[in-house]
Amino acid sequence: MGSELLNYEQAAAKVSAYARKLRHQVEPASEIVELSRAQGRVLSSPLVADQDQPSFSRSTRDGYACRAAEISQHKPLPLVGSTHAGQSPSRPLPQAAVWEIMTGAPVPAGADAVVMLEHVEKSGKTVRLLPPRTMDVGDNIVAQGAQARRGEELLPSGTTLGFAQVALAASCGSASLSVYARPRVTILTTGDELVPIEAAPGPGQIRNSNASMLAELVANAGGEPTVLPAAADTNQALDKALAKALKADMLLISGGVSAGKFDLVEPALARLRARFLFTGVRIQPGKPLVFGDLPWSTGAESDDGVKRLPFFGLPGNPISSAVTFLLFGAPVMTALAGSHEPRPRFMLAQLARDTDRRGKPGLTRFLPALCDFNASGGRVPLVETVQWHGSGDLSAFARSNCFLVVPEDAGFLAAGSTVRVLLFW
Ligand code: AMP
Ligand code: MG
Repeated sequence: MGSELLNYEQAAAKVSAYARKLRHQVEPASEIVELSRAQGRVLSSPLVADQDQPSFSRSTRDGYACRAAEISQHKPLPLVGSTHAGQSPSRPLPQAAVWEIMTGAPVPAGADAVVMLEHVEKSGKTVRLLPPRTMDVGDNIVAQGAQARRGEELLPSGTTLGFAQVALAASCGSASLSVYARPRVTILTTGDELVPIEAAPGPGQIRNSNASMLAELVANAGGEPTVLPAAADTNQALDKALAKALKADMLLISGGVSAGKFDLVEPALARLRARFLFTGVRIQPGKPLVFGDLPWSTGAESDDGVKRLPFFGLPGNPISSAVTFLLFGAPVMTALAGSHEPRPRFMLAQLARDTDRRGKPGLTRFLPALCDFNASGGRVPLVETVQWHGSGDLSAFARSNCFLVVPEDAGFLAAGSTVRVLLFW
């Protein structure tokens, strides 16, 4: 059985093909949001320049607008005007003259360069470029429309909005933006041992940390989480809970997917006519991961045979749940969100110390690790694994900020080698 499981690359390829198909089949609904609430949302129509950018030829320096050919002769030229940011020059630049100008101010017509304050000698009302420096046409000027022309598409739909995109939208006068509705993601945790976080766990019980964690992961990936009450490990409880979980764009179930006597999630999904795309991946942690989809409605009349409800049955151990969501859940979610962001996100780093994690052969391993992203002094980011006691060790997990990827054929990684890390965001 184990040898039939997909390896990481095969499972990832399957999920990304599924996500690609989703992106083509399902156009999410659109809504309008204020710019101040647009961070993290996904554009549903392109951002278009309402004006040339810049809308006038602007100086990028404090100095003197001039003609490059004239000033490069190093003769004193009369200073005939002054413009600071927010003003407009009163007239064109006369022949053989210079015009005082500040950063961000419009360059007077006729000027073709701005010479920096520091590069001239000023005496009385004249300005001379200090030799041997010469100027070229266009120096220190951004010409009108150089960044974008009015009507030009600046950002395509599908762009996830971060602070830079928000700034660009603001510069175009977009006080609100059309974005895709966030995918609704139902989170159903399962397990007889779970109690709500407010409760004091009795003997053998634990607090339900996955519900909170998965809600954060979903929100970070651009989704809108709905957390259902935890379901007990019985067929009845699962059937009842799943019936309430289906009004969503995606379904995350945690726990109950291993091979134990009370791992009843897979059969419960099968009762809903699930199509299983895989029921395990050769990764550690996270091997029992289940991925598939359900007919859109259990009532079947609105099942058009195309639109289906993707689900992930995540292994219940918190670190397993997190890594399987990041690796496989997040790419499906970003597709449902209409986003082109690549998920999952990996980065190369340098291993800080020898890491010997020979486990079962044939498993790609994801070890909670701490990466120094700061990488000061031009260093490559350094990463090392954190000490942990298995995939339920939340305190070790909370001291980590990425997963170190140990390829399936390499149990030993030498200090200084280049390694892949899976990012948390
Ligand atoms: P399972 O995948 O159901 O076999 O669970 C594996 C381990 O994860 C068990 O030790 C569970 O107690 C733990 N676990 C399952 N669900 C959760 C949850 N929602 N929050 C925290 N731990 C969980
Ligand atoms: Mg369980």
